Amino acid sequence: MITPRDFHTHTVYLKCANDTMTIPAMVAKAQELGIRQLGITDHLNTLEKLPLHEQIKADLLALENPGLDIWFGVELNFLGCDGDFAYNEQARDKMGYQFAVGGIHGTYCDTYDLKNIIDVQHRHHLATCRNPLVNVVVHPYWFGKGEFDRQDWPWFDSVRHVPEAYALELGQVAKETGTAVEINGSANLENESNPVGYVDEYVDYLAAVASTGCTFSLGSDAHDINRMRTALTALDVAERIGLTDDRVWTPKMPPLVPAKS
Ligand SMILES: [Zn+2]
Ligand SMILES: [Zn+2]
Repeated sequence: MITPRDFHTHTVYLKCANDTMTIPAMVAKAQELGIRQLGITDHLNTLEKLPLHEQIKADLLALENPGLDIWFGVELNFLGCDGDFAYNEQARDKMGYQFAVGGIHGTYCDTYDLKNIIDVQHRHHLATCRNPLVNVVVHPYWFGKGEFDRQDWPWFDSVRHVPEAYALELGQVAKETGTAVEINGSANLENESNPVGYVDEYVDYLAAVASTGCTFSLGSDAHDINRMRTALTALDVAERIGLTDDRVWTPKMPPLVPAKS
């Protein structure tokens, strides 16, 4: 049995998620879904956004006996191709972030070249794993449909385009660096842009990553309260690829807000 958990969620404060994503509503929804461990991970694309994250933390600290363990985290994005994250030890310590998830959020390509697009993704996945401040590499091979549509590129319709050697190298580097690979409910598993059959292929991809012995993180990546249930889809996939609870990541430190105070 894998404990139900969600370590990738967005809030109303950064305006990426909608106004259903307040901290009290998210906690109530997590309880309803049977989620036992929740991580809040809103975007930090520039350090100027830190004051908005302070509001998230204040709302978390105002919770009393939420009925589940809650950690305060952050989601990081690259500042450019092969760039850094807008993050450092000072920001972490100032804010008291307990963990960070991170990854690539664009192709960084000007022209359509599928091999190059995949190579860029793979390189950034490995760089994310090797960043000691990041605990989880998020949504491998998620792409924004809008970026493809704007340029009239063929959509990324199958993870079978990714060489198996890349899946294995991601798993190996994740294992070596102690980074968890995310199983993402909204971006990868329940993404309406994906064709029928995409998920079965994605599960095969994750199984190849898992064959290396690395750990995985479960996340909904919800930007709307009704998408938090996709953390349970991620849990189903974890069980489908044969993971046990000890292969599923949880922060090492105690929760910021324990189930009962
Ligand atoms: Zn993301
Ligand atoms: Zn996200």
